[in-house]
Amino acid sequence: MSDASEKDALTRRKFLGASSTALTSATILSASLAGQERSGYNPGSDRSRSDPGPTNPGLDEANPDSNNPVPTDAGGVQTFKYPFSFAHKRLHEGGWSREVTQRELSVATSLAGVDMRLTAGGVRELHWHNAAEWAMMLYGDARITCIDPQGKSFVTDIKEGDLWFFPTGIPHSIQGLAPDGCEFLLVFDDGNFSEYATVLLSDWMAHTPPDVLAKNFGVRQEALANMPKKELFIFQAGVPGPLEEDRRVAAGALGHSPIDFAFRTTEDAPTKRTRSGEVRIVDSSRFKVSTAIAAAIVTVKPGGLRELHWHPNADEWQYFFAGKGRMTVFATGGRARTMDFETGDVGYIQKTLPHYVENTGATDLKFLEMFKSSYYQDLALSEWLAHTPPELVAAHLHLDRATLDALPREKAVIVPD
Ligand code: MN
Ligand code: MN
Repeated sequence: MSDASEKDALTRRKFLGASSTALTSATILSASLAGQERSGYNPGSDRSRSDPGPTNPGLDEANPDSNNPVPTDAGGVQTFKYPFSFAHKRLHEGGWSREVTQRELSVATSLAGVDMRLTAGGVRELHWHNAAEWAMMLYGDARITCIDPQGKSFVTDIKEGDLWFFPTGIPHSIQGLAPDGCEFLLVFDDGNFSEYATVLLSDWMAHTPPDVLAKNFGVRQEALANMPKKELFIFQAGVPGPLEEDRRVAAGALGHSPIDFAFRTTEDAPTKRTRSGEVRIVDSSRFKVSTAIAAAIVTVKPGGLRELHWHPNADEWQYFFAGKGRMTVFATGGRARTMDFETGDVGYIQKTLPHYVENTGATDLKFLEMFKSSYYQDLALSEWLAHTPPELVAAHLHLDRATLDALPREKAVIVPD
């Protein structure tokens, strides 16, 4: 970049970042002209950007990149953000759940998410579903149970940061433990999944003729008279006893399942750590049972950037669980959009579309990258350019030799490294 054009770019950024009242009209005019000359994009004068009609100042302030887009944004890109705060909360005695699916975020076709809270003793009742279930504990502790395809029992306790995975059709339950239960994020390998459409033990029993149930169990029909008449979904129960006792009685004569349906994320070192953050990649190469969903758990420190990259193998479903950031999705054909993210937001990037995630806050930005795939895969802009003949790259981007040589040779994942 020449000195003059560098100055233009700086002026333009300053114009966009500073409050309009602090700028003179001469600065605005020169910044506008620079924008037009450089990219053909007209960022508009201060008057053009004004918004004298009805506004929602709270939402505008929380979404600066929508309200006042960067000059590189252009054209229509399908909305790729939905906050869990917009989702209906389904309240029960014992906890609650809320979901973000394709019905809320229409671009999100491959995966859906549920945020769930259980009190100490609160139970997400015994159930299964057609989708596979991946989960991460966000707060507190829970006991999970399931049986494997051979009917063998699995019971374990899950703490903050731990994962679990239940394949399609595997029956399971989740129960909050002392002192304050838990909250967790569930991710399903179907964008159209619904928490309202699962096979529930109580619902099934309530919709089976009582004489058939009695015959099935070999008991008197009167003994089943107190069964719930409709589904429980989430309900309050007592806090369970010691884990070892639950494991022993559930296993019975058949023994424990040899399959580990849980993954202790924090027991291993991060896959990659730089001075700007770290990433933990957990796919079926390490978490054997998780054959339908792969994950990357990312931390970006203030000022850091999850570098420009894309995923050749799958769409990415994101969940932001700490901090603030922004992401631009480049959607081909000159289209690009930048959106702002904070705790509780879901993001989505269609397969192969380039993107980055930048920490724009003062605290660590933490988010999940989720994929409907048995394996994690990404390619970074820096590694692409580093492993392409340099003259070819220079001919495209008009870079001098010193700049080319300075580009990172390998994927850093989180920069600056
Ligand atoms: Mn489930
Ligand atoms: Mn990504």
